[in-house]
Amino acid sequence: MSWEDNVRKVIPYVPGEQPTGRVIKLNTNENPYPPSPKVAEVLSHYDTDDLRLYPDVHGGELRDKLSEVYGVDKEKIFVGVGSDDVLAVAFMTFFNGRTPIIFPDVTYSFYDVWAELYNIPYMTIPLDDDFRIKKDDYLRTNGGIVIPNPNAPTGCEKSVEDLEYIISNNPDSIVIIDEAYVDFGARSVLPLIDKYDNLLVVQTFSKSFCMAGARIGMAFGNKKLIKYMNDVKFSINSYTMNRLTVAAGVAVLEDMDYLKEVRGKVIATRERMKKELTALGFTFPDSKSNFIFASHNEIAAADIFKAAKQAGIYVRWWDKRRISDHLRISIGTDEEMDAFIAFLKEFINGYL
Ligand code: PMP
Repeated sequence: MSWEDNVRKVIPYVPGEQPTGRVIKLNTNENPYPPSPKVAEVLSHYDTDDLRLYPDVHGGELRDKLSEVYGVDKEKIFVGVGSDDVLAVAFMTFFNGRTPIIFPDVTYSFYDVWAELYNIPYMTIPLDDDFRIKKDDYLRTNGGIVIPNPNAPTGCEKSVEDLEYIISNNPDSIVIIDEAYVDFGARSVLPLIDKYDNLLVVQTFSKSFCMAGARIGMAFGNKKLIKYMNDVKFSINSYTMNRLTVAAGVAVLEDMDYLKEVRGKVIATRERMKKELTALGFTFPDSKSNFIFASHNEIAAADIFKAAKQAGIYVRWWDKRRISDHLRISIGTDEEMDAFIAFLKEFINGYL
């Protein structure tokens, strides 16, 4: 017998690389633009005496501001340290049955990690050959449902009507819709939280809000769902939202015009990239997110991934069943994407 027998052994989630130095980073779906200048303004005048005190347990002014901007009662809002934190709490709170929870087979690779960590039985539901979610597959018996919309890493949007069909036909399961990428052109199911008491909508400041480094995520759901999540959170760590982050988050929400402008730029670059990639022999499911999940007609994704990395351009590639012939390419600035396209042209010419 050794202490090691009592260790919780897990295979952790593997985040995308965060290289230092000058590289073109198209591998973790961050926003290529800085957050609103209001953030710098607020932080440069921050009264550091405040840091003496613990922060508000519910995210204080950040939750108030979210309530105002989204028109949702603050008791229906939960904030956490990025949406990973929010999702982890939601998994622990809502998925305690014996029946497996279900989510797509090709999806955010953290879901199965949390399920394993919390001993939640789970089953994956295959996407169709075009990487689409088939709504009727989600009418089977289940202990809960998780669906990202748009899905990651495919970028595919599921319509609000199809999601409502899944939510309304599963009244005895919590359905989590992970809307990390929803602001890049997809429609949100947020208006449905008052209609369905089993719906939890999760969003983040990491992508469309240009704030991955600040770590802010939120969930919207009816008061009862949020209360249950708070009970679990307060059983782990009450003070998750630090005062500096709260101040920065509020500043971002005070500049929604800036956010709209940035989203517009990312969407325009994505649409241009779709044309450029198609011309170079790539195919991909239509993306409504800030990345494109592309496969080349002749060259292995692994080869492009390695060569791009050597050229200082990081994209994401997984050596996994069904997706190993695809690259997930985050949308950067126009200049970054031009550099990537120039690299691809040269590489493809030399390869074929
Ligand atoms: N959901 C999905 C689908 C994601 O791709 C990500 C980003 N890795 C997250 C949630 C978590 O993002 P964050 O913790 O930065 O909010």
